[in-house]
Amino acid sequence: MEKVFDVIIIGGGIVGTATLDRLAKYDLDCLLLEKSDDVAAFSTRANSGIVHAGYDCEPGTLKAEFNVLGNALLWKDAQELGVKHLKCGSIVVAKEGQEDAIAKLVEKAKANGVEVEVWSRQQTLAFEPNIADDITMSLYAKSAGVVSPYQLAIAYADRAILNGAKIELEAEVTAVSKQGEIFEVKTSKGEYRAKVVVNCAGENGAPVNDMAGAEHYETTYRRGDYFILDNTERKNINTVIFPLPTKAGKGILVAPTADGNVIYGPTAVDTVADDTASSLASLDEIRRNVPLSYKNPTFNKCIRIYSGLRTIIGHDFVIGESKVVKNFVMAIGICSPGLTSAPAIAERLAELVTAKFACKKKNDIVENLPENKGLLELDEAELNSLVQKDEAWGRIVCRCEKVTEAEVVRAIHSPLPATTVDAVKRRTRAGMGRCQGGFCGPRVMEIISRELNIPLDKVRKGNGEDSNIAVCKVGEVE
Ligand SMILES: Cc1cc2nc3c(=O)[nH]c(=O)nc-3n(C[C@H](O)[C@H](O)[C@H](O)COP(=O)(O)OP(=O)(O)OC[C@H]3O[C@@H](n4cnc5c(N)ncnc54)[C@H](O)[C@@H]3O)c2cc1C
Repeated sequence: MEKVFDVIIIGGGIVGTATLDRLAKYDLDCLLLEKSDDVAAFSTRANSGIVHAGYDCEPGTLKAEFNVLGNALLWKDAQELGVKHLKCGSIVVAKEGQEDAIAKLVEKAKANGVEVEVWSRQQTLAFEPNIADDITMSLYAKSAGVVSPYQLAIAYADRAILNGAKIELEAEVTAVSKQGEIFEVKTSKGEYRAKVVVNCAGENGAPVNDMAGAEHYETTYRRGDYFILDNTERKNINTVIFPLPTKAGKGILVAPTADGNVIYGPTAVDTVADDTASSLASLDEIRRNVPLSYKNPTFNKCIRIYSGLRTIIGHDFVIGESKVVKNFVMAIGICSPGLTSAPAIAERLAELVTAKFACKKKNDIVENLPENKGLLELDEAELNSLVQKDEAWGRIVCRCEKVTEAEVVRAIHSPLPATTVDAVKRRTRAGMGRCQGGFCGPRVMEIISRELNIPLDKVRKGNGEDSNIAVCKVGEVE
């Protein structure tokens, strides 16, 4: 008889992978379906990576509840999973005449149970010397910080696999129907069946609901563009610097990244689904706004621009079981602060799902992932010992980020294998540095080709059949 999974999760962003991670700890047969070549392929890949404190969410909303719960869980998860993070706090800076706006944030913080302090200019300067000259005060939140969003999602996916869950990549869900009590989920890769379906499809959350005949929601999209700066700029910033929030969001920030770069952004441009093309006007807006909170920004140290898309349904997250389709659970419209909220959303979804089964936690749950230190985190003795066992630890592939061949090989053979140049980049940082893969790209391609035993012209940059980098061997061109 055809296999029936207990649970199918649609979408491998931070919400889907965190949920799979939680469910994999139970004696349930779980499968995650992701349309892309890797998890963390959409909003989870391109955001600010801020672990928000939760002082600015409207009290009483799901956003407020899950942000605050998620903050505490995320710090714990990142530690346990060995994912890069920095609990560096955040400040919202304000000028003379903006005292009321700071007072309103203090009220919201109290209502949401978030600890904040109001600082004078002097106190702010002692913590963050590069604030703009006319900043007179700030709101400090010590529970905020930064994390690598895609590495967190990848780590959740890896741990879920080690705990027995399955992930099918390049399996785009095209139809969801129900035969009796069993869901039939059609994908570009084949058909799967399950007792419970969890919709975490991000930008396609509402369409997937429609496929299943569950509640219909209207979606809007808001793009955010960024500048990412060279790691030489990291020394100029200690914390996350926000302007006062507006109706459009938390505003254009300046922040360190968990990996040691600096970001300026994001904007908030109303747009359509799938639009992740940065615009000149939007980048100009960042240029104009950053100096209002941060002195002497170094736009000339930009190594890349990127953008991410917020998926918005009304004013809040949509989380819970469908009232129309039994056993169809959803977490959709997860815009900001969705990264921070994800571990708490995952726990809520796992509670909902496990309550439907007579299931219990497994005995031997994997909590910590295998050692994943990179070259820069190893001391000399550790490195020497590794080189003795495997010479690939002595061969640098990415000069900018100091990534060795051994790390690339490890990523290719990790629980959720990296099979494209971008997937290797997200796991190892090869290609994330100043030269953006100009030097290491071809070497990473050769290693993928060798390790996966595929021809060089079949090695892809990222998602999609047409994403191969080499077309054919020189001499074969007509
Ligand atoms: C510009 C920007 C800045 C942000 N900054 C922050 C921040 O600093 N802190 C914070 O807490 N939050 C932030 N967020 C919000 C955060 O990024 C999102 O809330 C979070 O990534 C949403 O995760 P998700 O899993 O719901 O969606 P996604 O990450 O989009 O994942 C959905 C997945 O579903 C897959 N999928 C879609 N359709 C199908 C299908 N039919 N079949 C199979 N798979 C499918 C997609 O490929 C994707 O991988 C920001 C968002 C943006 C855009």
